[in-house]
Amino acid sequence: MDCKPSVLLLFLFSPVCQGHLTSHHSNEVNLLDSKASQGELGWISYPSHGWEEISGVDEHYTPIRTFQVCNVMEYSQNNWLRTNWIPRNSAQKIYVELKFTLRDCNSIPLVLGTCKETFNLYYMETEEDQGDQFWEHQFSKIDTIAADESFTQTDLGDRILKLNTEVREVGPVAQKGFYLAFQDVGACVALVTVRVYFKKCPFTVRNLATFPDTVPTDSQALVEVRGSCVNNSREAEPPRMYCSTEGEWLVPIGKCLCDVAHEPRGVTCQVCRPGFYKSSPGNLRCSKCPPHSHAHQEGSAHCSCEKNYFRSEADPSSMACTRPPSSPRNVISVINETSVILDWSWPADSGGRKDVTFNVVCKRCSAGQRKCEACRGAVRFLPRPAGLSNTTVTVADLLAHTNYTFEIEALNGVSALSSEPRQFATVTITTNQAAPSPVAVIRKDRTSRNSISLSWLEPERPNGIILDYEVKFYEKQEQETSYTILRAKGTNVTLNGLKPDTIYLLQIRARTAAGYGGSSRKFEFETSPDSFSISSENSQVVLVAISSAVAIILLSVVVYLLLGRFCGYSKSKHPDEKRLPFGNGHLRLPGIRTYVDPHTYEDPTQAIHEFARELDASCIAIDKVVGAGEFGEVCSGRLKQPSKKETCVAIKTLKSGYTETQRRDFLSEASIMGQFDHPNIIRLEGVVTRNKPVMIVTEYMENGSLDCFLRRHDAQFTVIQLVGMLRGIASGMKYLSDMGYVHRDLAARNILVNSNLVCKVSDFGLSRVLEDDPEAAYTTRGGKIPIRWTAPEAIAYRKFTSASDAWSYGIVVWEVMSYGERPYWEMSNQDVIKAVDEGYRLPPPMDCPAALYQLMLDCWQKDRNNRPKFDQIVSLLDKLIRNPSSLKIIANAPSSPENMLLDRTGADIATFCSMGDWLESMHTLSCKDIFNGASYSSCNTLAKTSTEDFKQVGVTILGPQKKIVSSITALETHAKNGPVPV
Ligand code: AMP
Repeated sequence: MDCKPSVLLLFLFSPVCQGHLTSHHSNEVNLLDSKASQGELGWISYPSHGWEEISGVDEHYTPIRTFQVCNVMEYSQNNWLRTNWIPRNSAQKIYVELKFTLRDCNSIPLVLGTCKETFNLYYMETEEDQGDQFWEHQFSKIDTIAADESFTQTDLGDRILKLNTEVREVGPVAQKGFYLAFQDVGACVALVTVRVYFKKCPFTVRNLATFPDTVPTDSQALVEVRGSCVNNSREAEPPRMYCSTEGEWLVPIGKCLCDVAHEPRGVTCQVCRPGFYKSSPGNLRCSKCPPHSHAHQEGSAHCSCEKNYFRSEADPSSMACTRPPSSPRNVISVINETSVILDWSWPADSGGRKDVTFNVVCKRCSAGQRKCEACRGAVRFLPRPAGLSNTTVTVADLLAHTNYTFEIEALNGVSALSSEPRQFATVTITTNQAAPSPVAVIRKDRTSRNSISLSWLEPERPNGIILDYEVKFYEKQEQETSYTILRAKGTNVTLNGLKPDTIYLLQIRARTAAGYGGSSRKFEFETSPDSFSISSENSQVVLVAISSAVAIILLSVVVYLLLGRFCGYSKSKHPDEKRLPFGNGHLRLPGIRTYVDPHTYEDPTQAIHEFARELDASCIAIDKVVGAGEFGEVCSGRLKQPSKKETCVAIKTLKSGYTETQRRDFLSEASIMGQFDHPNIIRLEGVVTRNKPVMIVTEYMENGSLDCFLRRHDAQFTVIQLVGMLRGIASGMKYLSDMGYVHRDLAARNILVNSNLVCKVSDFGLSRVLEDDPEAAYTTRGGKIPIRWTAPEAIAYRKFTSASDAWSYGIVVWEVMSYGERPYWEMSNQDVIKAVDEGYRLPPPMDCPAALYQLMLDCWQKDRNNRPKFDQIVSLLDKLIRNPSSLKIIANAPSSPENMLLDRTGADIATFCSMGDWLESMHTLSCKDIFNGASYSSCNTLAKTSTEDFKQVGVTILGPQKKIVSSITALETHAKNGPVPV
């Protein structure tokens, strides 16, 4: 027996045992671990000489308790070893892990008894600890345990014991606790460790949900476990997992999402840091605050907008905060009778948004803008007054000759949120005269066999005082081949001399100073039945039908004259008749005012008092000098008339020491200006003649003269804006020519521009024109003429007419389209006269729409009868404005050979073989020198020269540069088309 311990100790600490005592998994919960106990385990051994408790050390030299038995020398062994009572805890199924060594019987010399190589494992469940009581038969057998490999034969023939590990499952267990027992029936065995455990699925966090420790069931079924969302998160889909019998979590389903203002960090949801936000639940990270917003606190769901920045309801939190747009810019108005096209530029600042729209409000303001009221009546906005996405609107059906103010506001999605005062662009316009609208309602008052009495309502929009009505009627069956026209002063008429029992068709139209309005629709009337005879004695019938068109026209003339008498209209009685001799010899139409030359008044003071209001000098405050006129300084200032709002005005002063002639000439401009009333003609406020200095006060034009204005804003306007300006000038000129006034000095320098880009014709006078204008030069015939702007016949024999104004207008178009370029650049006046006479014309300015260049060429027709009239120019420009795509075609080269720009004859062009020659001919000698120096010697090279190249060779003066480029185009065209005779 002495050998026993030593034998067994050898089993235990053989090096081959090392490394086998591994630690168990985290999903195993120990109920018993013999290794953990360093004191006596106190298990019951029966009989007492069977199992023996022995102290030892494990491979780490940690003290452990082991049990051994090796009664192989004796027969009939039945040795029991019972553990202490092991509480079951929550286990349903328990695992018993045994580590043991077992000697194989062959290795034991001199075995006397019946050596065994197995032992038995038992268990017994009880509700409580039963102390030392032990009844063998109460135990149930779990298994017979045998060594896997009880030994290994080494090369040396040694037998080395191995540590065996065996695990057995026991279950289900239900009572509060249990015992294990080991039965030895004659083996040589050492129980090194006994561990009893059960398995569980340990607490875990998956998809932001926590799952508690879960003990699997004994059966094969999985346990479904519901997870709970971690703090600051919510269920997106109920989180679930299955706990397997092996204590493993399987199949995670569902998940939790971090709350608003929280983001996932590891297995938790944490608040967003300052400067970050999260507006919706989810597992994305918090985002950085977008531009113009901030989040000073942590845990922000949204970032707040900076002061004066906003977010509309529809804006996502990820969008930058934005602000209302600035006001629209550069509003231009194009008036066409009683409608106006408003056009403006996009606001300089759209507030950071794309949803900019425009609202246009129409107001009627009393003089001086004091009191304004919303426009009443059926003012039509096309396409609409609000929510405009384009920068243009047409306002129609305004009253004729009426002042309107339009407020144009740019809005975007956050405008409604801002409490800042709204910014408008305003434009004030005066509508022109317009023909009346059609008569809509005609009533039959009485019918007889030969007559019908009718009355009607005045047109809805008379647009002025109705002078008379034209009543046109005819038998229905005659189908208008023959008709009768008569005129009525009032709104009723009796048609006499009709056929009985006959259907008549009738149309009425009203006439004002602006002309005829549209005809009413055709009304049908029938005379009473009877036989009839035409009674001509009481007839207002003036024109009798003839069924040929030629005859109708002839008769219309006769009827018109007769009607005049019949209706009480007499040309000689027209109030303006006495003014007819002046002007340009046109026959003035009745009803249209005519310009009166103040020089025809014997007393010029009378003229000034007839046409200009005398202002009280105390109402005028002069602010600063803005320009120099021929007679004195031009100042800006304010005019405050009693019971009127203060307005900005320009004040022209007459310098002291003037002669009476100078005074008269100075004031003649006011006498002329005072006769005009048109939105494109500079408006006279009044004159001061009774105090000194003598002053002419006009409306103030903030942007000064057009030529300087364009030069200051080179290339800054859209073509539509430029055309709008030109349309204004043409409209003013139409008014002047209708009035019979010939301007004689129409040039961009004599057009003034206000803050709304409205252009107004200014600089009126007669003899003064030629003295005042620094551009005017003496001609061979002695007069002073602004050569570059003047039509050839006016230069040659002073034939100034509205047609010569049209020539000048063409030059103004050229000035406008070239942003204030000097016509004919540095050419001498003599050369200009010669060139124009030979048929040369200015080339199209850069990027000039072909339609506008054609207009210029039309204005520069040699035969003045072929030049367009101003009303034609106005309607052409209106058409271009209405159809902006027509402006897209750019005039690259002269459109027709006979108007070859600054062209010599074809032969001459052909001889420009060197660039120098050509430049010389263009009077750009300085440039020529530069070009020669830079070896730009051939036309081909120069044709390819870009603006940059010009800069490189030092041509920085705007004039020659543009001229050269334009002329290159001419040369290119010439090269393509060959010489063209002029
Ligand atoms: P005038 O004598 O009319 O040629 O005026 C000389 C200069 O004074 C013009 O070129 C303008 O710059 C300025 N000027 C004249 N009238 C006005 C006005 N109504 N508003 C603003 N500036 C004006």
